[in-house]
Amino acid sequence: MKPDLFEAPDYYNLDELLTEEHKLVRNAARDWVKREVSPIIEDFAQRAEFPKQIINGLADIGAFGPYIPMEYGGAGLDQISYGLIMQEIERGDSGVRSTASVQSSLVMYPIWKYGNEAQRQKYLPKLASGEWMGCFGLTEPDHGSNPGDMVTNFKDKGDHYLLNGAKMWISNAPFAQVAVVWAKNEEGRIHGLIVERGMQGFSTPETHNKWSLRASATGELIFDNVKVPKENLLPNKSGLGAPLGCLDSARYGIAWGAIGAAMDCYDIALRYSKERMQFGKPIGQFQLQQKKLAEMITEITKAQLLAWRLGVMRENGTATSAQISMAKRNNVDMAINIAREARQILGGMGITGEYSIMRHSMNLESVITYEGTHDIHLLITGLDITGLNAFK
Ligand SMILES: Cc1cc2nc3c(=O)[nH]c(=O)nc-3n(C[C@H](O)[C@H](O)[C@H](O)COP(=O)(O)OP(=O)(O)OC[C@H]3O[C@@H](n4cnc5c(N)ncnc54)[C@H](O)[C@@H]3O)c2cc1C
Repeated sequence: MKPDLFEAPDYYNLDELLTEEHKLVRNAARDWVKREVSPIIEDFAQRAEFPKQIINGLADIGAFGPYIPMEYGGAGLDQISYGLIMQEIERGDSGVRSTASVQSSLVMYPIWKYGNEAQRQKYLPKLASGEWMGCFGLTEPDHGSNPGDMVTNFKDKGDHYLLNGAKMWISNAPFAQVAVVWAKNEEGRIHGLIVERGMQGFSTPETHNKWSLRASATGELIFDNVKVPKENLLPNKSGLGAPLGCLDSARYGIAWGAIGAAMDCYDIALRYSKERMQFGKPIGQFQLQQKKLAEMITEITKAQLLAWRLGVMRENGTATSAQISMAKRNNVDMAINIAREARQILGGMGITGEYSIMRHSMNLESVITYEGTHDIHLLITGLDITGLNAFK
C-alpha cells in the first residue's frame, strides 16, 4: 500500500467550531491511525483478519468508551470528541471503527446505562482497557430489520436463567469475551443479558466469505441451554427501546465515521488528479474530473456540518432518534458515492490495494446496511415527518 499522505479537508473551517480538547483528541487519533493502522490494514483486510495488535492502541486513544465516565475506565469525553475519534478510525478502516463502535456504544453503553453498579465495576474497566472485548447480539437469522420479532429467549429456572436461540452477523463475536445479548423472557419482554465466553452451550462460529469489513471479525452467537447467572441480567431497562438506545449511540458514531472514509477517498483522488497525466495534462484539469472532486468536497462539507450539529444536540440531550437516523443515512450514502467516484478518478489503479478506496467502497456496503439499513432510516424519517407508520 502507498504511504499514508492523508490531509484532512476542512473547506468551511470547521476546526473553528472545535475546542482545543476536541482538536487534541482528534489529532491523537489521526496520528495513531497513520502510524499503526494505515501500514498494516490492507494486508489484514486482504487476509480477512482482524488486527488484534491494535487493541491496546485503540484503548489508548480513548476509542473504547470515549464518553463513559473516567471512574469506570472510560475517557470521560464529550459527544463531539467521540464522533471525531470515530471519524479518524474509519478514515483508516470501517472494520476497525466497527470494533470500536461495538465495544463503546453497544457493549459499554448498555452496561453503563442499564446495568447495576456491580456490573459496571466488573465489566467497564476491563472493556475500556481492551483486556476484554465485547459484542452485541440483536440480529437473528430470520429477524434483521425487525428485531422486535426475535425468538431468542430465556426462562427463569430459579437460581439462573436458561438461554436458547441464535444471533447472526455479530461483529467481534469470534473473539469477544463478553456478549450483550437481547432475548425475550417468558412474557415476551426483551431484556439484555451479559453472556461470557466459556459458559456451557455458548459458541461463536465465525462468518467467512465476506467481501466487506474484511478486517473486522463477524460471527454467530449460538445459545444451546446456556445457564446465565441471574446477576447477569441488565436490570434498569427492558423492551425494544433498550437495544434501540444503544443503536442511537452507535449510529451517531457512524454518522461521523463515514465522513472519515469519504475524506480519505477524496484526499487520495484529489492528489492523484494533480499527479496523473493524460493527453499532456494532469487529469484534474479536465472539467469532468473537477466536477467529481467539487461535488465530493461539497457533500463532505455538508456531512461535517450535519454531524457537528448532531453532536451538539447529543451533548445537550436533545437529539432525537429520527435526527440520528437522518445523519447516519445521509453520511453513509454520501461516503459510498464518494468512494465510487474517487475510484473512477484513479482509473485502473483504483481497484488495487495500493490505495484504500476500493476497501472503503466495499466496507461501506456493510455500513449502509448495518445499524438500520438505508431504507429503514428513510422510513424512520418518513414516520417522523408524517406521523404515519410505514412499518405496520
Ligand atoms: C458486517 C456486518 C456486521 C454486523 N454486525 C452486527 C452486530 O454486531 N450486531 C447485530 O445485532 N447485528 C449486526 N449486523 C446485522 C445488521 O444490523 C443487519 O444486517 C441489518 O439490520 C439488516 O438486516 P438483514 O440483513 O436481516 O436484512 P433484512 O431485514 O432482511 O432486509 C433486506 C432488505 O429489505 C429491506 N426492508 C426490510 N424491511 C423493510 C420495510 N419494512 N420496508 C422497506 N424495506 C424493508 C431492507 O432495507 C433491506 O434492503 C451486522 C451486519 C453486517 C453485514
